[in-house]
Amino acid sequence: MSLNYDLHTHSAASDGTLTPAELVQRAMAAGVDVLALTDHDTTEGIAEARVAARKTALRLIPGVEISVTWQRLTVHVLGLGVDPENRGLLDGLAGLRKFRDWRAEEIGRRLARAGIVGGFEGAKELARGPLISRTHFARYLVAKGHASDVRGVFSRFLVNGKPGHVPGDWAKLDQAVGWIRGAGGKAVVAHPARYPLSRSKLRRLLMEFAECGGNGIEVISGSHSRDDFFVMARHARDFGLQGSVGSDYHGPENPWIELGRLPALPDCCEPIWRDWHERRNEASA
Ligand code: AMP
Ligand code: MN
Ligand code: MN
Ligand code: MN
Repeated sequence: MSLNYDLHTHSAASDGTLTPAELVQRAMAAGVDVLALTDHDTTEGIAEARVAARKTALRLIPGVEISVTWQRLTVHVLGLGVDPENRGLLDGLAGLRKFRDWRAEEIGRRLARAGIVGGFEGAKELARGPLISRTHFARYLVAKGHASDVRGVFSRFLVNGKPGHVPGDWAKLDQAVGWIRGAGGKAVVAHPARYPLSRSKLRRLLMEFAECGGNGIEVISGSHSRDDFFVMARHARDFGLQGSVGSDYHGPENPWIELGRLPALPDCCEPIWRDWHERRNEASA
């Protein structure tokens, strides 16, 4: 019997809206068998998710989604099956959160210059955990009527060339892969079809990723089209990378993405979970 995998999700420890325990409950109800919690630049939600999963049949994979700057573009690298207490990983993520904290204040200052006051305080208040993401700014600005939805806030205020955009460097590609591999995890390029990259530039990224020890790419993603699935499956094969499956769930407010509702990995892909042991949470916690 094939299991239902969802290996890319967020909790309130980053920019998701459910607590880690609520996320685990919802994944169970949705029929997910194997769930990875992959918050942005933090492993803080994993302890709570593990407790919630421990007495259930759901297998929790400790994960993280690391912000990376590659050729001046932000790309996301998932770590799946990491030790959330690994020192090298924790130190690396702490450095990224330091930049994130400064960036949040700077976004607030820049929005204020554009006539929108209280953005930093508003975003901080909406963030239920210790990490402030642009998503929190977007939710606050929607609540204040500056745009009708989160997507609209991004395009009008938060992306390159807009008043609240703050440039800066996240981790380097090889650093992120190194932290993940050093913590015993597998490194996976998240939603590869979403980056504004030409086909050849994306292939360059995947080649460098494979060369520095990356393991896989998200072939099936909540933000991929059906065509993307097949293009990415071919890239995976070409670069000797395994395939992964993840919704990129952020919460029930976003009704078009649900946990565990993704198509199966194409047969030509070697799954990222191929050599995962069939242990239960109790054994691996
Ligand atoms: P950050 O890591 O703080 O820069 O925020 C990145 C997060 O913002 C992503 O993980 C998405 O959840 C969200 N995001 C980025 N771009 C958009 C967009 N155009 N529309 C909606 N959400 C977005
Ligand atoms: Mn996010
Ligand atoms: Mn992402
Ligand atoms: Mn994500």
